[in-house]
Amino acid sequence: MTAVVPDRAATVGQRMHGLIAELFPICRSITGDGIRQTLRRVKDEIPLTLHEVPSGTRVFDWTVPKEWNVRDAYIKNARGDRVVDFRRSNLHVMSYSVPVRRTLPLAELKEHLFTVAEQPDVIPYRTSYYREAWGFCLAHHDLMALPDGDYEVCIDSTLAPGHLTYGEYALEGEGPDEILISCHCCHPSLANDNLSGIALAVALAQHVATVRRKHGFRFLFIPGTIGSIAWLALNEARTPAIRHGLVLSCVGDRGHVTYKRSRAGDRLVDRAAGHVLRQSGQPFTVLDFVPYGYDERQYCSPAFDLSVGCLTRTPNGRFPQYHTSADDIDFVTPSSLADSYARCLEIFEVLEHDGRYLNLNPHCEPQLGKRGLYQATGGGELPGFEFALLWVLNQSDGEHSLLDIAERASLPFGTVRRAAEALVEHQLLRPADARA
Ligand code: ZN
Repeated sequence: MTAVVPDRAATVGQRMHGLIAELFPICRSITGDGIRQTLRRVKDEIPLTLHEVPSGTRVFDWTVPKEWNVRDAYIKNARGDRVVDFRRSNLHVMSYSVPVRRTLPLAELKEHLFTVAEQPDVIPYRTSYYREAWGFCLAHHDLMALPDGDYEVCIDSTLAPGHLTYGEYALEGEGPDEILISCHCCHPSLANDNLSGIALAVALAQHVATVRRKHGFRFLFIPGTIGSIAWLALNEARTPAIRHGLVLSCVGDRGHVTYKRSRAGDRLVDRAAGHVLRQSGQPFTVLDFVPYGYDERQYCSPAFDLSVGCLTRTPNGRFPQYHTSADDIDFVTPSSLADSYARCLEIFEVLEHDGRYLNLNPHCEPQLGKRGLYQATGGGELPGFEFALLWVLNQSDGEHSLLDIAERASLPFGTVRRAAEALVEHQLLRPADARA
């Protein structure tokens, strides 16, 4: 797998942004037709399999909930005007609201209204998945403008036995080991927290499908928490094959890349991500694991303890637009999406190609010039590739992997890998073990 060409990344960024814009209006939740419609659209891009898990299915300590669907929701004033209207923004209805149709005074209605007083112009995003309730979300300014009086509320929803839907796309590798890529797709009209991860996973799957793979790749598009718990419960036997993984979310905002380590903290995916970000020449943050955030919480629960980290730009909860109507399509940019894409492919390159090698000419340096590998004229700065040749030869005693060498030499992994390939071609190096 080779690193991405910048021009191609720019095009990919535009395509990801286009997919986000297309999926943005759909009213998604952890179950229901919104998530199905989203996954069907993803299926136009990659050959996704849609799985349906019946409501009531026990998955470890959890139960797959009833399926929720909503057709319309509004609050009308005494004149019959819709002062809050689901048709204008699907964030207006609290996700999983039970059906309601009644008239009540403002004071009573307020118990069911949610706003963010500190950000009076935005509509917050609220859910009530596991407690039956109903509610509306609106801008604080709009709440303040409501005069006293009676209001007619309607939530035309159904909460009934049905299914939890998730999407899965598995690509075979040369060996049994797998790389897991997981994103949540259960949020309504929110662009960074939700749709950016979906769009990035789609773009990565499209690329991975076209290249030779040592690992299999498994892409999961799942409702947050209950989706990963359901997948793990129904696929427990598959999990030992998952050698590395990334949860993707919030990968489209203008902030820099943040990588959150796996529970173990020192797995290959953690080292690969750290190396790629250090070599990117851009600001970045690496965070330690905490049992909060996205589905890494489930993949990294103690019985699984998978090598799964989480890649974001600005992490969840650390940007003011988080879980509000301000997390819209203008909040995510093609260039940030393209940059996240490029970093992921670089991490994949390490996961796919790291390995240990043996120097077949370990008694002093082999003469690289006569093999056409070494152009340097004495005295000048050594080009990275030629420097990498010397590092790979020096360190390839079977003990040090290419990532060890890249880290010690402060060279991009891709350069070290290309140097190792050139040395293998000239019979100066061979893999130290079958896995290399
Ligand atoms: Zn969220």
